[in-house]
Amino acid sequence: MKSVPEPVKPKLFNLLDFDRKGLAAFFVERGEKPFRATQLLKWIYQEEVEDFDLMSNLSKPLRAYLTENCYIATPEIVIEQIASDGVHKWALQTHCGNRVETVFIPEEGRGTLCVSSQIGCALACTFCSTARQGFNRNLTTAEIIGQVIVAQKRLGAEKRITNIVMMGMGEPLLNFDNVVAAMNLMMDDFTFGLSKRRVTISTSGVVPAMYRLTQVCDVSLAVSLHAVTDELRDELVPINKKYPLKELMEACRDNAKIAPRRTITFEYVMLDGVNDSMQDARGLIKLLKTVPSKLNLIPFNPFPNSSYRCSSKETIHRFKTLLNDAGIVTTVRKTRGEDIDAACGQLVGQVEDKSRRHLKLKTVN
Ligand code: SAH
Repeated sequence: MKSVPEPVKPKLFNLLDFDRKGLAAFFVERGEKPFRATQLLKWIYQEEVEDFDLMSNLSKPLRAYLTENCYIATPEIVIEQIASDGVHKWALQTHCGNRVETVFIPEEGRGTLCVSSQIGCALACTFCSTARQGFNRNLTTAEIIGQVIVAQKRLGAEKRITNIVMMGMGEPLLNFDNVVAAMNLMMDDFTFGLSKRRVTISTSGVVPAMYRLTQVCDVSLAVSLHAVTDELRDELVPINKKYPLKELMEACRDNAKIAPRRTITFEYVMLDGVNDSMQDARGLIKLLKTVPSKLNLIPFNPFPNSSYRCSSKETIHRFKTLLNDAGIVTTVRKTRGEDIDAACGQLVGQVEDKSRRHLKLKTVN
């Protein structure tokens, strides 16, 4: 009789899915001491060791258990694009065959990684190309923190990721637990050790989740405002119908109470003839005076078949001046990575656009 090989038992746990608290609970459930969590984080994130047998301060039986049941896996970079301004964009393959995008934005003295939280997005903001894809699924914690791991590896020691913004594809607060665990890892001293000021989550205004976030995770908050009346915001950011401006601003005030001198960044996309009148600017001043805030104006980034145009430079400048003069710190977001569709609202996970072949396009592996 021919012998049939034993089927390989699928391993159950990707250890990148756990933050330190999660790992400690995992070990305690298995009769181990909670400090195993920090030992493991050090091996994975600082020593970059993936082979459990090499983790010399773990007991032999524990190493055997981990080898049999656990694994460490990040999404894989399948395409890398580098824009003329040094912005990197990666398409990452997830285990289900879908791709997500991650963007690195180098600036003087810092490097910001823009991380995705979902495959697609359910929110249907009318000016965002990710919305056009619809929603596929939430990314796991491992797929979120995995974006940071693979990006830093790819960038090498010379280009450090100093800031992370949850501003890629998806609405991070609709993937609450996985995003919070990933942000805890970004800030953990045994992993990336970023300060809470350098980790920012951006939301379109999922109000109940904003309150929850304030309770459990202290990171910087950015809110995609884009309109100052419910009528217009209902149209541009449809989740406003569920959580209108009054409730949104109340949740912002609640978050601002976390710490003294804390400010919330409001994002405002500049759409020609839609939300860029001086009356809109005055409305913004009135609204933002009610909460400690900074304002970030985002020039609209076009994408195929989008029906909006970006406001003129003059309008953006006038808008900015009016707000600054009223005492609201206002900046205009520099559009980066435009030639590789890496700018805000252009991330779609679409990577094979033949019209863009002239760009530096490299397939990894
Ligand atoms: N869903 C979250 C995270 C996305 S962050 C949120 O809404 O905040 C990306 C930022 O870019 C958001 O402020 C988003 O509204 C904005 N954005 C989306 N499409 C854009 C576009 N085409 N041009 C400029 N900004 C855009």
